[in-house]
Amino acid sequence: MEVAPGIHQIRFTMPSNPTFSVFAYLIASDHEAALVDAGWGTPGAFEELRTQVEQAGGSLKDIRTVVITHLHPDHFGLAGRIKHETNARIIFHELEKPFVETRYRSYSKLLDAMADWLLSHGVPEDEMPELQTASVPARRFVAEVDPDAVVVGGEVLSLGGQDWTVIHTPGHTPGHIVLFNPARRLLISGDHILPGITPNISLHPEAGENPLGDYLASLHKLADLPVDLVLPAHEHVFTGLSQRIREIEAHHRERLDQMVAALNDEPKTAYAVAASVRWNVGEFSSFNALTRRAAVMETLAHLEYLRRQGAVEKVLRNGVFHYRRR
Ligand SMILES: [Zn+2]
Ligand SMILES: [Zn+2]
Repeated sequence: MEVAPGIHQIRFTMPSNPTFSVFAYLIASDHEAALVDAGWGTPGAFEELRTQVEQAGGSLKDIRTVVITHLHPDHFGLAGRIKHETNARIIFHELEKPFVETRYRSYSKLLDAMADWLLSHGVPEDEMPELQTASVPARRFVAEVDPDAVVVGGEVLSLGGQDWTVIHTPGHTPGHIVLFNPARRLLISGDHILPGITPNISLHPEAGENPLGDYLASLHKLADLPVDLVLPAHEHVFTGLSQRIREIEAHHRERLDQMVAALNDEPKTAYAVAASVRWNVGEFSSFNALTRRAAVMETLAHLEYLRRQGAVEKVLRNGVFHYRRR
């Protein structure tokens, strides 16, 4: 689907959930093309890419550059396969680069760190193994590849003959980037800003110290950007960037209030807080392992933000971190 002249949205079906798609964007001129994000690394996804590039009047071999907004499997999955087929230049943020190794090549160290992390935040012993390995199955949807170049934000990349500015937007991941085209007032927002859902903001062993603080600062950075159309990685393209940013900020303020309300003088673990707050996607006890783990990590990101604001404090009891209101 052409969402702006010369820019085609490529839709990939999620292997585990056919109703939820991830989008890449093909930016094409007469001579060359670039792809932003690379879908799941499944044979089916590769055919989805080939078909849609051809429907757009191009060919895979036109793709010279692939920019990855962040290294989650639904965005990075096909990068290695595309590299192999086209020899395109692979670009992502330098802070995502270590994850090629730690998440996709040799992840046993990360699994060990994850086990300690989960136990130290109150996950019960019997639930720990399931939560520890919850994201392992997604690894098979990734053909990983090292970048040919890394960015840090501020660079202007020529993609499909147009200038796109890289903006570093940490929060959802440490090295998440978005691409801004000032001449055409377009923003490719990855998972940073989505029209209806909010991206998961998690504190975990590879997340940095204060991901929610980073995320809110990254939202603020884009609040006055002159953008007419936002091209996100999920749901649908949308207008009204500043309005959407205000809604997401309000969502996190509300969530922070809920977290404070769930605490009192009695110290609670992040796991206990996660189990007691209301989630938009259902009951904590009915979540699958991946969602339960994401809920604990999202809770932690909020608790750590509150701790840095001075609203809560963190205490260590028998090797387990607890939070209480100050
Ligand atoms: Zn993501
Ligand atoms: Zn995503």
